[in-house]
Parts: sequence; structure tokens; C-alpha cells
Amino acid sequence: MSTRIPTRNKTGFSEMEQLRQEMVKLLDEAKTHSKKGKVVDYIPELKRMDPHLLGITVVSTGGKEITAGDVQVRFTLQSISKVFALTLAIMDRGMDEVFRHVGMEPSAEPFDSLPPSLFLPLDRPEFRELAKPANPMINSGAIVVSSLIKGRTAQEKLERLLRLVRVISGNPTIRVNEHVYASEKKASERNWAIAYLLREQGFLKENVEEVLDLYFMQCAIEASCRDLAYMATCLANGGTVWGLSKPVIPREIVRVLTALMVTCGMYNASGEFAARVGIPAKSGVSGAIMAFVPGKYGVGIIGPAIDKKGNSVAGTHLLASCVNRWGWSLF
Ligand code: GLN
Repeated sequence: MSTRIPTRNKTGFSEMEQLRQEMVKLLDEAKTHSKKGKVVDYIPELKRMDPHLLGITVVSTGGKEITAGDVQVRFTLQSISKVFALTLAIMDRGMDEVFRHVGMEPSAEPFDSLPPSLFLPLDRPEFRELAKPANPMINSGAIVVSSLIKGRTAQEKLERLLRLVRVISGNPTIRVNEHVYASEKKASERNWAIAYLLREQGFLKENVEEVLDLYFMQCAIEASCRDLAYMATCLANGGTVWGLSKPVIPREIVRVLTALMVTCGMYNASGEFAARVGIPAKSGVSGAIMAFVPGKYGVGIIGPAIDKKGNSVAGTHLLASCVNRWGWSLF
């Protein structure tokens, strides 16, 4: 079978339906892996998610959709929001300024590790360069990136980010889940520690409260598999959204996002993910994964049971099965 997601043919026999049935089989198999993971526990409000859920939506760049599993659930983007916060920061400040503040290198450390600056002599310029957050996909880098988004208040910056997310998902109702936002703000001592350290060492110029407020709100943006798949399809389409003539995200930014998703999108599991799955992807601790096949498909997955590195166990398994079944790997 080809990798194209076909439309209904003239006889009325639905190839699309056949494809969906195959997807359901892959999903049922992947679902058995959810017991190897656990729902995230450091954000109290997320502990309520059902670890056995698994849902997937695939949207082709031609606008055809296929879904399987628990696609009705709504979940928060968590780290997936880092992709779009980075997009907006680059659109606001330009590539050079953003990457003066944050690196482009994969990190072998967990996503919530402190910046590597505690024991470095920061008065020496060569060490300062080493000490900046490794990349925008881990928390320290993302907090710095969020501080670069333009706007007078955290709320105004959030509104600008929401506008971008609504346009690329084609869903004007996307909003922040206030409970998840409040829950993380209260419980996430690690992110407070990271932000204060960045600020104390001069990597963060803005007020810590303001920046973290934006960061926690962006992490709590709520979406469905379908929303996520449409966001991913915009990236697969080089930044273009169906029905709009001009790209929403400039192509050169999509190129950088793609590279960073491949090298850093699954945190310190990105190398293995590239080898075993091989498409640009970004995960969040809610168990969501946004992935895409350049020029072809956008994928949105939810599977709340995550592994020790913060990636959905069943979701990753399902994505790997799709990639193998339909030959999506870039490598
Ligand atoms: N809000 C989460 C945090 O900062 C996002 C992390 C993630 O999804 N990996 O800890």
C-alpha cells in the first residue's frame, strides 16, 4: 500500500476506511505498552489522566484525516508549546538574537535539569557560552525563549501565542486550562529554581514571576489530537495553512524547528527516537506527541503513561509502528 492517505474511490469502497482499520490494529497493539509507563505526578492536576488512553489523528497536507482510539480527550500541550513559543520568539526577535540566548545542541540531561552553569567560572566568556541553556526544547531553554516573546504583560504575550496556535490548528476555541496552569504554578519548584538561577546568572533579563507565568500558561494550552495533527500539518506544509495564501510560519523558521525537533524534541531520548522512529517530533509530559512527515502528514497523539524521560510509552510505540508500516522515516 502506498504512503498516500487516499480519498474514497468511485465504487464507494473506502480505502480510507481500510487504512483506519489498520491504524486501529496498530493502536490496539501499542496500547498494551501503556502499562510500562506512568502518568506524570509532579503536576497534581495531571495525575488524574487515565494512563490507558491512546488516540491518534493523522492529517495529510492535502487535508484528509484519519483517526483512531481515544481522540475525544482534551489534554495540555506541556512541552509541545515550546515549539510555538520558539516560533513566535524568532518571529519577534530574529534568529540571531534568540540563539544568542539559547543553544542549538541536544542535551544528554533530563528536560528539567538545572542549566549547566552552577560550577562554571562564568566571568570567562568561553564558559558563559557553554553555560547557556543547551536548546529551546528543555525547560531552561524554553523559559529563556518565552522571555523573548514581545508583549507588555504575560497575558498579552500569551494572547499572541494563542493567536498563532489557533491559526495553525484551525481551531479558534483553543485556550488555557486554568486548573492545570494553577496546579503547575504552585507545585513546580524545579522550574522556579531553574528560572531564579538563570536570572541570577544573567541569562534571564525579565522578572521571574512574569516569565514563569507565561511559561506555565503556555504549557497549559489545551488541545485535542486533531488540533495537534493540524498544527503538525502546518509544519509539514512548510508553515502554510490551508486556505491562507501566505505562510503563517516563515519557511526558514520551519527548517530550524524541524532540525531542533529531530535533535532535541524527545529530550535525552532524541537520538534513540531518531534511530528507531526517524521523524521530527515533540513530546509533552501530558503524554502528547506532535510529529510530522515533511511534505506529507501531521500527526497528533495522546497516551498519558510516560517513561522516565518524559515521553509517552504507547504513543512512541504507535508512532514507530506507523512509520514502519507506511515507510515514513526520513532516514
Ligand atoms: N510544564 C512542564 C514542565 O515544565 C513541561 C515539561 C514537559 O512537558 N516535558 O515541567
